[in-house]
Amino acid sequence: MIRSHRLSTIQGIVLAILCFAVTAAEAAGDHGTPTEVPIWNWTPEQIKDHVNRVRAGRDLSPKSWPNGAKVAVSLSFDIDTEPVWVGFQEVRTPSYMSRGEYGARTGHPRVLKLLAKHDIPATFFIPAMTMELHPEIVPGLLKHPEYEIAFHSYVHENPLQLTEDEERQIYKKALKIFEKHVGRKPLGFRSAAWDLTDATIKIVNEMGFLYETSMMSDERPYMLNSYGKETGLIELPVEWILDDWPLFQISWPTKHVAIRNADDVFSIWRDEFDVAHEEGTLFMLTMHPQVIGHRYRIKMLDRLITHMKDKGDVWFATHEQVARHVKEQAGL
Ligand SMILES: [Zn+2]
Repeated sequence: MIRSHRLSTIQGIVLAILCFAVTAAEAAGDHGTPTEVPIWNWTPEQIKDHVNRVRAGRDLSPKSWPNGAKVAVSLSFDIDTEPVWVGFQEVRTPSYMSRGEYGARTGHPRVLKLLAKHDIPATFFIPAMTMELHPEIVPGLLKHPEYEIAFHSYVHENPLQLTEDEERQIYKKALKIFEKHVGRKPLGFRSAAWDLTDATIKIVNEMGFLYETSMMSDERPYMLNSYGKETGLIELPVEWILDDWPLFQISWPTKHVAIRNADDVFSIWRDEFDVAHEEGTLFMLTMHPQVIGHRYRIKMLDRLITHMKDKGDVWFATHEQVARHVKEQAGL
């Protein structure tokens, strides 16, 4: 008994040492950022280091926009279809699949019709699996050189659940499918989570992207910095109030139910645009054909584009055109 007790004490000490070593290793991230220690026990340096992982660098607002325009407007549509439900919301029943299908079958043609009516460009962020599930979408977009097709995951998986190696391998797999359908590499990257892992910037840079569009430090374009250093990636910032999903979408898995009056959303987006116009900056919207493509909402978007055109001095451009212009003006 005593011997056994003594053994278990020794074993306990060894175990405690091993556990401490593991906890200490877990606690120190790449840059020594503690992950297991409560935030109130972090040092100021550790907190600063953590915040500095991804931050806004210099403002990349150009001196002027093309054609003497006062404001740049760049509309994007994330054709997430079924992948957003199976990949991100993790619901896989036929009802959710049909909602994704609505985006490809009904919403997307309405979006195309509206863009054609106003003769304006747009950027389409498309998960690789949307291209596989709806192979008619990309050829339809390729008929219009004024449209940009950009990168938006494999199956709208949440990158925050992935290891660095998994994230890299999944993006490589997605890129192969993207290139098969589009015939070229994408220049724009949008995270499916509108969030970045510790590895995302490194991977995105390895893959040769021109710009990133998932962060929210500003409304103006800026240099994306990591640990105080410029990454070379141009950030075209997004914002939840400039996204149709939280304003209109019904998502039972996340208990998010928003059936807004179109006039409410129109007034938010109109005022956001009007101030962007006054300040001479950038106005971007993120929309989803399965959300904005419903009848009363597409009418609202029609009204908004008409308002922007009536205001005048607007440069409608793809995200790629904005990023290229900004880069050139900054002498990068
Ligand atoms: Zn998406």
